[in-house]
Amino acid sequence: MSNHIHLDHPIFPYITQAASELGVDTYVVGGYVRDLLMHGPTKKDIDFVCIGSGIELAEKTASLIDPKLKVHTFKNYGTAMFHAFDTDIEFVGARKESYQRDSRNPIVENGSLEDDQNRRDFTINAIAIAVNKENFGSLIDPFNGIADIEKGIIRTPQDAHITFSDDPLRMLRAIRFATVLQFSIEQQTLEAIHKNKERIKIISQERITEELNKIILSKNPSIGFNLLFDTGLLAIIFPEMQALHGTETINDLSHKDNFYHTLKVLDNVCEMSDNLWLRWSAILHDIAKPPTKRFDPRHGWTFHGHEFLGSKWVPGIFKRMKLPLDAPMRYVQKLVLLHLRPISLTKENITDAAIRRLLFEAGDDIDDLMILCRADITSKNKMKVKRYLENFDIVEKKIVEIEEKDHIRNFQPPISGELIMETFGIKPSKPIGEIKNCIKDAILDGDIKNDFDEAYQLMLEKGKSLGLIQVHGNS
Ligand code: ATP
Ligand code: MG
Repeated sequence: MSNHIHLDHPIFPYITQAASELGVDTYVVGGYVRDLLMHGPTKKDIDFVCIGSGIELAEKTASLIDPKLKVHTFKNYGTAMFHAFDTDIEFVGARKESYQRDSRNPIVENGSLEDDQNRRDFTINAIAIAVNKENFGSLIDPFNGIADIEKGIIRTPQDAHITFSDDPLRMLRAIRFATVLQFSIEQQTLEAIHKNKERIKIISQERITEELNKIILSKNPSIGFNLLFDTGLLAIIFPEMQALHGTETINDLSHKDNFYHTLKVLDNVCEMSDNLWLRWSAILHDIAKPPTKRFDPRHGWTFHGHEFLGSKWVPGIFKRMKLPLDAPMRYVQKLVLLHLRPISLTKENITDAAIRRLLFEAGDDIDDLMILCRADITSKNKMKVKRYLENFDIVEKKIVEIEEKDHIRNFQPPISGELIMETFGIKPSKPIGEIKNCIKDAILDGDIKNDFDEAYQLMLEKGKSLGLIQVHGNS
């Protein structure tokens, strides 16, 4: 690799001019450099470090681009950022850091470029490229980060034990980078994670979850979860998932290891969808298998009700993980609850009514549910896999046919509560719910069509059987 790197983002000319006007040495560092050296420019944030005030450099640069450009400054951290050319541009003054035992917030003093590179987490993130006029594009790579990029290695510049003890979040960052970049973690670095695993407890849940989600959004999240398991971090940050690990044998019968099964399902889903919450559904679909496990001498291992219990656990897990408690949580709960239902539909002689029920309960999430079910087939027997997938093809075809005919996906009751009250001259009360349920069941069971007239007739009949007297409308 040459010692000069071509930098062509439109921000660079402005930085160079601002740095020259202020007379500060300035460098581009971090993820932008790493990704640039790996596979050319990426569309992501760019981090600059200068030997001086990062805030002043940010303000100067912004004013050269557009005097109205808003700069966000964080005086406590000595950092600043603005958004330009569709990119977040971040600034920090070079610093030297020292840590105390009980916090990941260091004592900070101004420092040299060397001090600043020393404080960075991994060799691949500690490469700097100068952007001043006289040295524009020259590389400063004191820890052989470029060689580590070429070898695909995550390694700390300083003693790994101290690096992770100082800021335990770096352990998760190491695993995240190993997963996203598909790099391996160097042996001593890996051992240091194992040794410092308990220190993760001083990190806020938000930061932990942010890293977990980045792992989950990668191409093969199983890499990250295997590392979390092997280093002992998983047991601390996600005990329910840890509990999926292991098998048991009775009378020569073993059940599969639900941890590795879950990882396979997760990777399978990732091939079919980028949806973070569908991926979380894969992680959680069998989460309640350990407490529902039984051995039955006649049927072998069973996990009856794990889908119900699992969906019940979702809110608690989301709350602790600081994941959103609104629509995403309800979606994951629903998918965990329903994840076995399409399998039951692959049995012969399945009725249209059973399909309508599932369409009603899954609604617009039916397609995601089918992705999860397909991903859930992890048998090593190729013939079996083929047969299961073909069965799902048949189920999906039926789902499409029935949806076209009956429009159940976005089921809206054809008769409203208001109309029932008006027809029978009654106030809000129990019979209204009973009539609405009766109509819904009749539609799902195929006894009446999903339309107003048939539902209206049924309302009159049901009302009569409940002893109500019609006071309004045609009979
Ligand atoms: P990405 O933006 O893809 O997450 P990145 O490497 O740019 O990757 P940032 O979190 O944006 O990561 O941080 C920018 C740089 O700051 C990193 O490359 C690294 O040099 C340094 N850095 C960030 N967090 C830490 C940390 N906890 N300890 C040490 N250095 C860090
Ligand atoms: Mg970055």
